[in-house]
Amino acid sequence: MQVFKFGGASVKDADAVRNVTTILNMYKRQPLVVIISAMGKSTNALEAIHHSIITNDGKLDQHITTFNTFHYGIIDSLFQLDRTWLKEHIAHLFTDVRSLSGKKFTGNPDKLYDQVVSIGELSSTLIIDNHLKCSGLNSIWVDARNLIKTDSNHKEGRINWADTERLIKSQLMPNVSENSVIITQGFIASDQNNHTTTLGREGSDYSAAIFANCLNAHTMIIWKDVPGVLNADPRIYPNAVKLNEVSYHEAIELAYYGASVIHPRTIQPLQRKEIKMWVKSFVAPEALGTLISKDAITNTEIPSYINQKGQWLITIATRDLSFIVEEHLSHIFEIFSKHKVKIDIMQNSAIHFTVAVHNLEWRLLALMEDLKEIFQVKYNTNAELITIRHYNDSIIKELNTDRVVFMEQKTRETYRVLLGEKENQKNS
Ligand code: ASP
Ligand code: MG
Repeated sequence: MQVFKFGGASVKDADAVRNVTTILNMYKRQPLVVIISAMGKSTNALEAIHHSIITNDGKLDQHITTFNTFHYGIIDSLFQLDRTWLKEHIAHLFTDVRSLSGKKFTGNPDKLYDQVVSIGELSSTLIIDNHLKCSGLNSIWVDARNLIKTDSNHKEGRINWADTERLIKSQLMPNVSENSVIITQGFIASDQNNHTTTLGREGSDYSAAIFANCLNAHTMIIWKDVPGVLNADPRIYPNAVKLNEVSYHEAIELAYYGASVIHPRTIQPLQRKEIKMWVKSFVAPEALGTLISKDAITNTEIPSYINQKGQWLITIATRDLSFIVEEHLSHIFEIFSKHKVKIDIMQNSAIHFTVAVHNLEWRLLALMEDLKEIFQVKYNTNAELITIRHYNDSIIKELNTDRVVFMEQKTRETYRVLLGEKENQKNS
C-alpha cells in the first residue's frame, strides 16, 4: 500500500482539487491512504481567527466569514448539485469558536490554537472526500485525531508512538483495500483527553510519514508544485536543478539546514522501516520526481543551496570579561529552550557566545531580556544564513561580497555563512 500527501498548494482552489481527484483516479484499485493539508493559505486565515479571540479585537466574525466564503466558493465551483449540507457542516465546525466571540479569553491560548487551526484540515478533507465520491471513487473519510496521539504539548505535539501504532493498526489497517481510498488530515492529532493537538506548522509531511510507518507502507509520495527536490530555491537561483535521488541521510541534513521541501521530522519514521519516499509534481504526475531512500546515491557533484533570510545574530558576553565556560553555556541553553528558540548556527570565543536564530520578534526580545539579567547582549537583525552542501572553493568566492561575514563554518560536506550589514548592530 502507498501513502500520499497533498499540501496546501495542491488543493488551493477548485481546479487544484479536480487535479487531485484526477491523480487519485490514476491510482484506483491500489490500496491508498491520502493525507491532505488545509486549502491554500487557510491555516494563516485560521491563525488570524485565533488572534482575534485572544485579543478580542472584534474581528472574529469577519475572519470566520472570510474563511467560510473561500471554502464555499470552492464548493460552488466543484459541485453541480446542492451542497448546502456540506457548507453547514463546515460552518458547524466553528460552533465552539463562535461562542467565544465578544468575550475576554481566559483559557490556554495554545490549546485554543489547535482547536481553531485544525478546522482547516477538517474542511479541506470533507470537501475533497465528497468530490472523490462524485468522481466514482469509494473514498472513506477518517478523522486523524482518532488515530494519531500526542502528549498535551499544544502547537508542537510529540507523538505517542505506542498508542498511535496500536490505533492505526486496529482502526485503520482493516479498512485499507484496493476497493477504496482513505482520506484523512495532516497536521492534526489529539492527546490523552482527546483534545485536539497539532504537530507544528507544515506538519502534514510528518503526519504522512507517521501513517506510512505504522501501516508499513511500501512507498510514500509527497505531491508538490515543484518537479521534485531541487538543489536550490528556484526563486533565488533560476538555474536550480532537480535531484533525481537523495539518500535519507542527505535528506535529513538538507531538512535540518532549513530546506523547506521536507519537514525536518519526516524522514526518520520512513527510514526506520526503509519506506521509499518520492517527491513528485502534481502538475506533471507522470514525471519521475525525486526518490528518497536508503540506498539512493546522492550526486555530490551538484551543490545544494539553502538560504535563510531574516536571521538575527545575537552576541552574548559575560559582563566582567570572564571566560564563557560550561556553566554559562548551560545557562544560556536553558534560556533558549525556555523561550523555544532554536539555534541555527553558533560559535564561541573566550568571552563571546554568538548565535544566529530565526523566530518571532517578540519571542527573541523576551529571550534577550532574560539573557540580559546575567550577560551583555548585542544583536543584528536582517542577516542571511546560507548553507551549501557539497560546496567547492569557487562557489564560496562567488557568494555575495558586499555584505559582512558575521560567522563562517566549514565541514567536509557543508559550508555555512551568515551575512549581514554591519551598521545594524543594536544593544539589547
Ligand atoms: N496546514 C498546516 C500549515 O499550513 C500544515 C501543513 O500544511 O503541513 O502549516
Ligand atoms: Mg501547507
